[in-house]
Amino acid sequence: MTHTARVALLITALALSCGAPAYAEDTKRAVTHIQGDLYRFQNAFHFSVLLVTEAGVLVTDPINAEAAAWLKAEIAERFGKPIRYLVYSHDHADHSSGGEVLGEGAVVVAHENARRAIVGESRPTAVPEVTFNDRLTIELGGKRVELIYLGNSHSDNMIVMHFPAERALFAVDFISVKRLPYRDLSDAYFPDWIEAVKRVEAMDFDLLVPGHGPIGTKEDVTEHRAYLEALYGEVLQAARDGQSLEQMKSSITLAEFSHLGQYGEWRELNIEGMYRQISLHRRGN
Ligand SMILES: [Zn+2]
Repeated sequence: MTHTARVALLITALALSCGAPAYAEDTKRAVTHIQGDLYRFQNAFHFSVLLVTEAGVLVTDPINAEAAAWLKAEIAERFGKPIRYLVYSHDHADHSSGGEVLGEGAVVVAHENARRAIVGESRPTAVPEVTFNDRLTIELGGKRVELIYLGNSHSDNMIVMHFPAERALFAVDFISVKRLPYRDLSDAYFPDWIEAVKRVEAMDFDLLVPGHGPIGTKEDVTEHRAYLEALYGEVLQAARDGQSLEQMKSSITLAEFSHLGQYGEWRELNIEGMYRQISLHRRGN
């Protein structure tokens, strides 16, 4: 048997034993139904949502130009409705890119600070033409979508999108379901981020639809807030006790969260990012 054939057999065996082979996620594109008029768009490890009504479609993060072109064709073929609104969760390029593809003929909406970053960083996307600061309600085909700014969290322009009829909330990057926050917490604001998650906990919904990973519930939001509080509190205390970053990486185990995804890979990076955050806003004796 050749080496290649053996590898192919092994992959088949893995696929049979634990579902889809690992590489399938790298290229996967799909639109799946969530609830009511709400659907989820997947492009590999990134997700957004779309609301499909009689009066047209509201789409969210386009992810990138190629993904957006695929989604546009899928919407035309499957639903036959025009795209009326394109809403960005925040300015980061891995979610907002490709807006020029989906936004053509639609109203492009984002937080006021997202517009500033999109223009300033020359993001490869459509510049939002409608911006807001606190809250904006969009009505489409008898459905309401509430766009809500919760303060600084992951970026200074992250919004959540509430679909009351579907009892669903689309929240990207600042709430992770059953896993740690991403790597070293780039473009983060603490402790503001924790306050933003608390505001989500106080909202009325059942399904938490994140920008990465599986759909969760409010319990996942609470668990994520508890993790962030523990990380923030323990890194702050360790800094006050005079520990170095290297010491913190071994002393702060966050063991009660070891069941969460990426615990092994990202715990130390999370500590590193939080140490950087805390160093910005404290001065020892
Ligand atoms: Zn982001």
